[in-house]
Amino acid sequence: MKAIIIGCGIAGPAMALALQKVGVQAVIYEAREAADDAQGAFLGISPNGLNILKEYVALDEVLTDYTPGRIRFFNARNKAIGVIDNAGQLSRYGSETVQVKRGLLNGALRRAAQEAGIPVEFGKRLLSIGQREGTVTVSFADGSIAEGDLLIGCDGIHSAVRRAVFPNAPEPEYTGLLSTGGFTRLDDLTLPADAIRMTFGERGFFGYAVSTSGEIWWFNNIAQATAPRRHELDQSELAYLKGRLTALHKNDPEPIASIIERAHSIEIYPIYDIPFLDQWHQDRVCLIGDAAHATAPHIGQGASLALEDTLVLAQCIRDCAGLQAAFARFQSLRQARVQAIIRQARKVGDTKTVPNRFQQFFRDLLLPFFVRLEARKMDWVYGYRVDWHRKLI
Ligand SMILES: Cc1cc2nc3c(=O)[nH]c(=O)nc-3n(C[C@H](O)[C@H](O)[C@H](O)COP(=O)(O)OP(=O)(O)OC[C@H]3O[C@@H](n4cnc5c(N)ncnc54)[C@H](O)[C@@H]3O)c2cc1C
Repeated sequence: MKAIIIGCGIAGPAMALALQKVGVQAVIYEAREAADDAQGAFLGISPNGLNILKEYVALDEVLTDYTPGRIRFFNARNKAIGVIDNAGQLSRYGSETVQVKRGLLNGALRRAAQEAGIPVEFGKRLLSIGQREGTVTVSFADGSIAEGDLLIGCDGIHSAVRRAVFPNAPEPEYTGLLSTGGFTRLDDLTLPADAIRMTFGERGFFGYAVSTSGEIWWFNNIAQATAPRRHELDQSELAYLKGRLTALHKNDPEPIASIIERAHSIEIYPIYDIPFLDQWHQDRVCLIGDAAHATAPHIGQGASLALEDTLVLAQCIRDCAGLQAAFARFQSLRQARVQAIIRQARKVGDTKTVPNRFQQFFRDLLLPFFVRLEARKMDWVYGYRVDWHRKLI
């Protein structure tokens, strides 16, 4: 069988490598004109994701620069109000949460796919999909077409595959938060820290960590009730963003103001999720990763879930009789888990919206208990394993 994979982010190359394990040859089609491993910010990847990632790449290749995943929380007066400690993760799950640069992760997966002989074609923006007589035909914006026996949509939250196959599917939901972030260096803050410091500031949430190379990786969340229009934020000027963030965090503890001031570039995104998509597959087409079930980033699970999907779907294709049965089994094995994680991420995101002083007082008081409770609740998330050798049928 020949598979068409749309999207060469995280899920795409991992899916192609998983399909190769079960004898399906894939070609990856990516909209971007070329690989750009310097693009994007950073993301958390937890044991459940790392344990799958190890199947595809040597972790050393991704962990050339990283920050730990332990989190210390502070209130707007810089008082420590909670900690999520990952100390037991290594012995319990075999890996420990880290933050990595998105480009390094994407690049390592793409190279692993290419080295395994999987072609990656750039400049291929999917426009439409046709399914007829056991064949999937896709057309791209450059006028070319491709044919295959199956198609896996790995094209992210604003998936063109999802729109083509399910034109009436709900659009991603705006969660009421914007996220900004970037990389900065400060002369007096170069030693890798033992944790990410997250501050519930007076009017916004701010997190930063110092990476193994001495770079500060930071992000902030801004509560904004109405969704920006698509691409509205793309052209935001650096000076405008610095001004907006400086005003938002003006009463919050240092080094927040210095980090913002010294930032040489700032990315800004609205945060969306897809709480529920009824169908993930139709005939010979199946969605995985953010295309099927995007989650808000507050518990750092989007990339890990996308990686989990790849191995489970390959296992279903290996063991089920026919593609429809495989895709249906895949959705039934995955949907409850991803929906629960999406709900939990929303809940955590809601604690970042700006409460009044009265609410702040109780949040600061209760957060240590809340954090301990949430950390215990992550066991079923981090402990997820795919038993590759188990036959599904
Ligand atoms: C601000 C922010 C912070 C995040 N933080 C975290 C975190 O800490 N931890 C975490 O696990 N996750 C995080 N995520 C989510 C994570 O980035 C995604 O869950 C993950 O990238 C999903 O992988 P994917 O392969 O499904 O999609 P993507 O990585 O988005 O890849 C999709 C690919 O498809 C391509 N594409 C799009 N349209 C087309 C088309 N029409 N034709 C061809 N190709 C196309 C894109 O160019 C892209 O390369 C965060 C997301 C955001 C926005």
